[in-house]
Amino acid sequence: MSQSNIRNFVIVAHIDHGKSTLADRMLEKTKTVSPEKMHPQMLDMMDLEQERGITIKLQPVTMTYNGTILNLIDTPGHVDFSYEVSRSLAAVEGAVLVVDATKGIQAQTIANLHYAQKNNLAIIPVINKIDLPNAEIERVRGEIVDLLKIEPNDIILCSAKTGEGVDKILKTIIEKIPLMKGEEASPFEALIFDSVYDAYRGVIAYVRVVDGHIKKGERIKLLATNKISEVLEVGEFKLGYVPKDDLRVGEIGYIVTGEKNIADVKVGDTISAVSPADVSPIAGFKIPKPMVFASLYPSDGNLPHLRSSLEKLKLNDSSLSFIPENSQSFGTGFRCGFLGLLHLEIIKERLEREYNLDLIITQPQVEYRLKQIGATSQYEEPWVSLEIVTPNKYLGPIMELVQGRRAIYKNTKYLSDITILEYDAPLSEIIVDFYDKLKSVSSGYASQNYELIGWREGDLVKLDVLIAGDKIEEFSRIVPRSRAQKEAKNIAIKLKSLIPKQMFEVSIQVAIGGKILARENISAMKKDVTAKLYGGDVTRKNKLLKKQTKGKKKMKMLGRVEIPSNVFVDILKP
Ligand code: GDP
Ligand code: MG
Repeated sequence: MSQSNIRNFVIVAHIDHGKSTLADRMLEKTKTVSPEKMHPQMLDMMDLEQERGITIKLQPVTMTYNGTILNLIDTPGHVDFSYEVSRSLAAVEGAVLVVDATKGIQAQTIANLHYAQKNNLAIIPVINKIDLPNAEIERVRGEIVDLLKIEPNDIILCSAKTGEGVDKILKTIIEKIPLMKGEEASPFEALIFDSVYDAYRGVIAYVRVVDGHIKKGERIKLLATNKISEVLEVGEFKLGYVPKDDLRVGEIGYIVTGEKNIADVKVGDTISAVSPADVSPIAGFKIPKPMVFASLYPSDGNLPHLRSSLEKLKLNDSSLSFIPENSQSFGTGFRCGFLGLLHLEIIKERLEREYNLDLIITQPQVEYRLKQIGATSQYEEPWVSLEIVTPNKYLGPIMELVQGRRAIYKNTKYLSDITILEYDAPLSEIIVDFYDKLKSVSSGYASQNYELIGWREGDLVKLDVLIAGDKIEEFSRIVPRSRAQKEAKNIAIKLKSLIPKQMFEVSIQVAIGGKILARENISAMKKDVTAKLYGGDVTRKNKLLKKQTKGKKKMKMLGRVEIPSNVFVDILKP
């Protein structure tokens, strides 16, 4: 297949605007999937994605339409997974930008548009969900015209549900997305935009071929590590790996590298032919900095298994970072960096499901730095530039919400009847519950995006937590001095509700240094719970005991007190 017959593109949008459903319709129209095999959000291949109805991983697929090869990469829309988007953008020339007709432009619409523009992609704007009775097509069209500075007619109307407009999108992709500029005759060179570990075949690299071609049996070099290996198989993505003879310039496909050492195949690296020796790496993308940190400990103490699982998962999600750590309460584990709380939750769940681990996870926090200035020490914390996108009518409550968050107002922009508010804010103020509150004060319409901008000093103090007199380092927390009293009280009350009764009375104290700010007591447990059940009903008694032992598995000793292992995550929930 010659280059002129290939189009590579992504679908980008704010979460829930219909990317994966539009991809479904494209799979149908291009007959990539037979009707009987079709199911919703076909490209969300992980169980976790199907269950939650969200896309977590980028997913490539190769389709054919009117004799043209279309390589689509479906992407996630949640801010925590924007690294998946940025990698996808580096592998394509065009982006279908989907906007929900009932929602209009939202924060990730704008963020993704900016990424796409930075990558010089051709942009095809689409208004989706026009079948819905509450679609506001003209309003949304106005917003897109304002944002993209284009003609109203350049926007395609579509329903990913009924299929209306989907053929027009496919034709426009072929018309508007530029051709590849690679060299057929040059030595092979490809960008690795993702990879997975296969227990039998080693690392499978997802690549975009930039120059030349590659076949099974040929030798390749991984530029970052200078590792040389022999290609075991090449192929394309057709909702699974489908082997083919070769991968050629312009194509997107996979290479079974034969490499067993995970660290040698880095996402973002270039795979090249072994000669000539002087290939320069393809400009890829930056690995994002982690936003929140939490420590993971294996419940059964099997550290090697946790380590190898993290390594394998990192291959598939290079934004995950981890370093070994020791805890008095939990032994040895890893301090891990995540892009946000959803990312953390997903990683934890993937480790438990895909690697069969039972994990204890500590309270997620941003990173703080303690700076010594003469005799006193001062904390520094990460700040972000925060962008909030909202229909005008929610401006009042949103500004009120932001006020309690130590944010500094920067700028306002207007787009038709939506407003974009820009602030600088401490990351800690927005990473936990800000988004939920933003959603609730705006009936779900406002959205946010943020980027790290650097470190700033803050008037912060460390709250220590003592349980039954033992200081439990894992519960300590750094907070603004002005809110210390209130936070201390909250933590004490929250812990009281999360820690089950013990055989003895348990005190919970929250303190700054030696000064106790808040105190709660958990009264001692009453007698044996089964004692109450009347003697004869053995099954009921056994059932209760069984339930208790099952609950027990997820418990952990903290000093003298037994706590449920998810208490660190639950403590952050409202
Ligand atoms: P993504 O997060 O952008 O991938 O969005 P999904 O494709 O998962 O869609 C989010 C929700 O919107 C799902 O419940 C879809 O069934 C629904 N949806 C997507 N496109 C349409 C459409 O054109 N019309 C209607 N009525 N619903 C749609
Ligand atoms: Mg999706």
